Parts: sequence; structure tokens; C-alpha cells
Amino acid sequence: MRYPRCNLHTHTVFCDGENTAEEMVQAAIADRMELLGFSGHSYTPFDLSCCMSPENTGAYRAEIARLREAYRGQIRILCGIEQDFYSPEPATGYDYVIGSVHYLWAGGSYLSVDESRESFCRAVEEQFGGDVYRLTACYYETLAQVGYKTGCDIVGHFDLVEKFNEGDCLFSTSDYRYRRPMLDALEQLLRQDVIFEINTGAMSRGYRSTPYPSAYLLRRIAEKRGRVMLNSDAHSKNALMWKFDEAAQYARSCGVGGLTVPGEHGWQVIPLGRERL
Ligand SMILES: [Zn+2]
Ligand SMILES: [Zn+2]
Repeated sequence: MRYPRCNLHTHTVFCDGENTAEEMVQAAIADRMELLGFSGHSYTPFDLSCCMSPENTGAYRAEIARLREAYRGQIRILCGIEQDFYSPEPATGYDYVIGSVHYLWAGGSYLSVDESRESFCRAVEEQFGGDVYRLTACYYETLAQVGYKTGCDIVGHFDLVEKFNEGDCLFSTSDYRYRRPMLDALEQLLRQDVIFEINTGAMSRGYRSTPYPSAYLLRRIAEKRGRVMLNSDAHSKNALMWKFDEAAQYARSCGVGGLTVPGEHGWQVIPLGRERL
């Protein structure tokens, strides 16, 4: 069976993306994609910078429904959501849910994990006593519950906390204080039967040279037979299938035997062959 050209992690101007949903659909068709799933950021009232407002959420759903009809026969369109752990409204009525932890709750406020290197370092100093491993442990303890909390099908960017840590510049990813909570979260999420994404979004936006998750983590996911999917976390029409061939090669090299995609009747695993995607 052939791997379909598809992506389920897509942002638009309804949240913090650069293009309209229709521009994304047209770019996907031009790129011979068979399926495009949208995943606008859920409403987070404590930080309005990246999310969809409640009004925008309604407009988003209506627009994706319109596009699904307008482009029927050319591309299959799904309406999902990237549900933040701390979003107050439950994610209901979507084709699928990506569950992500973008914020930590510490010291009586919500701290962004991925806004900037400066805000990350400030959070370590101000809320975690200067101990970066306390912050990373807090992140993974939160992530460990993301399946239960959001009801997600897919876990977004598992090791997001490594975003600004290229080359281990802020902390050691092989330190047990980092790995133990990460592997605990993995165990718990395997029990929640979620799909793990290989996410090339930080590559397309120039933050990282490799996808999430790290090779160390992806090998463990593969050993434990966790389900894996390729997603681009596209914020622009140029990034819809960003480096998917490389990401598939990366998956093979880490022992992943197949990739999960949405079939006509639920999730389906496509064996990972040698062909280009
Ligand atoms: Zn995200
Ligand atoms: Zn995203």
C-alpha cells in the first residue's frame, strides 16, 4: 500500500499561520496532496497571541466545512484542532484532536514553553529556582496527562521543551534528570493509546535541524510499538510537507516500521517502504 501525500498539522490566519485556509488548500492541491487536515490552536484565554478566539473558532469551523465541499473530488479535507492542555473548552465535534502542552502552570501563572529562548530562560530563573531540569520535569509531568486531559488522537511535538536546546546548549538531553520524566511520560502516553507525531515544524521555521521527537525518543517509541505519523506543523503554504522524505528516512533509521494515516474508516498503518513520499 502506498503512503498518501497528507498532513494533519496545519495552521492558518485563524490562529498564528501566515496563509488563509483556502491558500493552504490550493497549495496542497498544487503539491499533489491527497489529504489536508487543519489544526488551529485552541482558545487559551491567558495568552491570545497564537490561539483562535471563540468567535474565530466558529468562523474556522465554518470555513473548513465550506472548503471541504468546494474542493470535493480534488482533495480530502479534515477539520481538527490543536488542543492546548490548559484550554478551558473541551475539543468536541472535530475530525481529530492534536493534544499539545505549550504552557506550564507554575507560580500562579501560565508560562510559555516555546515562545522564545529568552522567555524559556526567564521561566527557569523566576519559577524553577534556576534549575532547568525542574522545568523540563514539569513539562513532561503535564504532557503525561495530555491524552486524558484533551482526549487527543495525536500528541503534538512530544519534546517541544528541546526547541531552543539545539546542540544541548541549555541542558543535557542525556542527563537522567531530563530523561526519566520524559520516559515516564512516554510510558503513560502509550497507555493512553495516542499517536506520536514526527513534527518538522521547527525545522521549516529555522529553530532546529532535526524533527521532534529526538532519535533517542523515537527509537523508544518504535521499540514499544507506539503509532507514529508525519506532520509538518505548517504555518505557511510552503511548509505543508516540509522534509517529509527526510523525516521518513529518519523514522526508518529509528526502527519505525509503519506510519499512521487517516483511512476512510479510521486510522490506518501504512508499512514504511523505500519509496519517496
Ligand atoms: Zn503546537
Ligand atoms: Zn501546531
